Amino acid sequence: MFKAIICDLDRCLFNPHSVPLPQGSFLKIFRLMEKEVDSKKKEKIKKEIYKWGLPGILKRHQIPEQLQQKIKAIYQVPTVSPQAKPYPDIVILKKLPQLKILVTTGLEKFQNSKIKTMHLEEYFDECIINKTDNTSNLWTKKRIFKKNLKKHQLNPAEVLVIGDSPYDELIPAKELGMKTAQSLRDNVKKVEGFDYYIKSFDELKEILK
Ligand SMILES: [Mg+2]
Repeated sequence: MFKAIICDLDRCLFNPHSVPLPQGSFLKIFRLMEKEVDSKKKEKIKKEIYKWGLPGILKRHQIPEQLQQKIKAIYQVPTVSPQAKPYPDIVILKKLPQLKILVTTGLEKFQNSKIKTMHLEEYFDECIINKTDNTSNLWTKKRIFKKNLKKHQLNPAEVLVIGDSPYDELIPAKELGMKTAQSLRDNVKKVEGFDYYIKSFDELKEILK
């Protein structure tokens, strides 16, 4: 019997590519990098800059000190497009009797803008952001899971963790003895070894009954 659901945000509640990615200061930052950073490194940074904090990115990619200063002076975390909409089957969550907690990893301002724009608070008892602004450690959701098991006095096996990322949430959940469902929306690659696989929240009714 499941007493609680912990759900991830991106690719579970929302397709991050369904709206244009906000450029904010990032366009200017890439222009600054044009001459001094090689294109391979730049491509990597483009992928990281929406998910990870600036200090870690600058350090990992060994950006020259002078350029770092210029980047830091203009850097701003963007906010999601006002057109962002959750997957329509999110309404199913409202009908589920379990305690529902949203746990999302990312830049605080960016993730918060998604929560507010899509009114995700309506669907969850609690929304928690696993902030990456000042850390480069991907495995920190485990700490949040542990804290919430204790806070709500739950046995790990009574909790279903829904997410698309093995590293961000599913493996940490499994290691704690929680049940796992990989969300396979938007061509997420299926990884073996989890308890359930879902493409829609419709499938939760069967899993949770
Ligand atoms: Mg995700």
